[in-house]
Amino acid sequence: MSEKVRVRYAPSPTGYLHIGGARSALFNYLYAKKYNGDFVFRIEDTDIERNIPGAEESQLHDLIWLGIIPDESPEKPNPKYAPYRQMAKLDIYKAYAQKLVDMGVAYECYCSEDELAEMKEEQLSNGVKSFKYNRHCLHLSEEEKEKYRKEGRKPTIRLKMSENHEFKFHDLVRGDVSFNSNDIGDFVIMKSNGIPTYNFAVVIDDHLMEITHVLRGEEHLSNTPKQLQIYEYFGWEPPKFGHMTIIVNPNGKKLSKRDHNILQFMSQYKELGYIPEAIFNFLFLLGWTSEDNKEIFTKEEAIEAFDPARLSSSPSMFDNKRLLWTNSYYIKHMNDEDYFSFILPFIKKIDFLKAKTDEELKKIALIFKQEIHTGAEIIDLLNEIVVRKEKLSEEEETVLAKETSPKVIEVFKKKLQNLIEINETSVKALFKETQTETGIKGKDLYMPIRIKLTGEMHGIEMFNIIDILGKEETLSRL
Ligand code: GLU
Repeated sequence: MSEKVRVRYAPSPTGYLHIGGARSALFNYLYAKKYNGDFVFRIEDTDIERNIPGAEESQLHDLIWLGIIPDESPEKPNPKYAPYRQMAKLDIYKAYAQKLVDMGVAYECYCSEDELAEMKEEQLSNGVKSFKYNRHCLHLSEEEKEKYRKEGRKPTIRLKMSENHEFKFHDLVRGDVSFNSNDIGDFVIMKSNGIPTYNFAVVIDDHLMEITHVLRGEEHLSNTPKQLQIYEYFGWEPPKFGHMTIIVNPNGKKLSKRDHNILQFMSQYKELGYIPEAIFNFLFLLGWTSEDNKEIFTKEEAIEAFDPARLSSSPSMFDNKRLLWTNSYYIKHMNDEDYFSFILPFIKKIDFLKAKTDEELKKIALIFKQEIHTGAEIIDLLNEIVVRKEKLSEEEETVLAKETSPKVIEVFKKKLQNLIEINETSVKALFKETQTETGIKGKDLYMPIRIKLTGEMHGIEMFNIIDILGKEETLSRL
């Protein structure tokens, strides 16, 4: 490849970083890094009514959190390509739109919203499948335009589509694709308020920023011929396009923002204690398959292994179990120091443990390192222990009602009162002594105490439970 690879992720700041957006960004990033190129982050903010505060920051900073680090962005502009927000470039779009008008391939359109709606309705009632602008304004004379302006109408600018023209391109994901220009109506490139539409601004940006490859969601496939038409009129070489398949839920339905079984936004993952490297790894395998079914990839390994030819051409299934598995893998393999800084903020949310020192909390944290799938899960697991259960099950009541149970509890309690240090050896010794004194062993020995302490019949080891509860609370529960 002779030219430098330049790819981009170009979100609209109409929402926070979403799982689908993160995946698009990731594959562009991998493409750039694989071929020593640049990964550009820019903002498509022309849909001004839908922009929301904080969205740009979330889009950029959540990506950085994931390790998808842009080489250029509004915060790290390269003067050669700046600005990185479309609303700061309105004059540029205006000048290019004027060029197309001067060339006779774009024209002012004075049709009102109502007139367009009427036109559409008429076409649909005549059996036309998809609406095409009827070119009412294509050949307006200066006088006609003047008359419209006097009525207070403000024109949009429409691109004149060429006729009987095939737009062919080789899609990096789907192979050869072609569209016929006759199926596409003349579309608006500049709105009457002087703001460009997506299809126009994106071409100007990709061209001026020297973008070489565009990997984006398949919902943009039908926009590509419109964009190719603009490239053709300007005589610019278009980038190579690749349209990634949709993400579906386990029922095969397109991932929807209303699907509450699947976390949608990166901020939610962050909050619940997902590890960025794990999400990176998971996203990498969401739409890409490794040759040997390898499942764990570091960022460097993903860059090394990435090959755009292996981008999947069928929908990618979002498998929550796989995500949890991946996250737990990364938790298990953290070194203890990293694990502590990751997990302590979660443990500190538990009021019951407020009095414990960091050293004590670290000990508790380690008990769960091999068990948890997310950081927040440790809160649930600890709450199962520290929050007293209101009501026992019938089975648990039966255990406590056994004639041996009160004896076991009483003896164990008495011995615990004199215990100085709680650790694995001392607590095990305590059970042994209780067994010798009462002659009761096995389940009859352990179960009543476990139930008294946690209200559960299963769980982590008894010495850990006692350690977490502390001597005073343990005695009180017994
Ligand atoms: N702003 C567009 C989007 O968020 C970008 C599309 C593109 O990559 O061309 O979908």
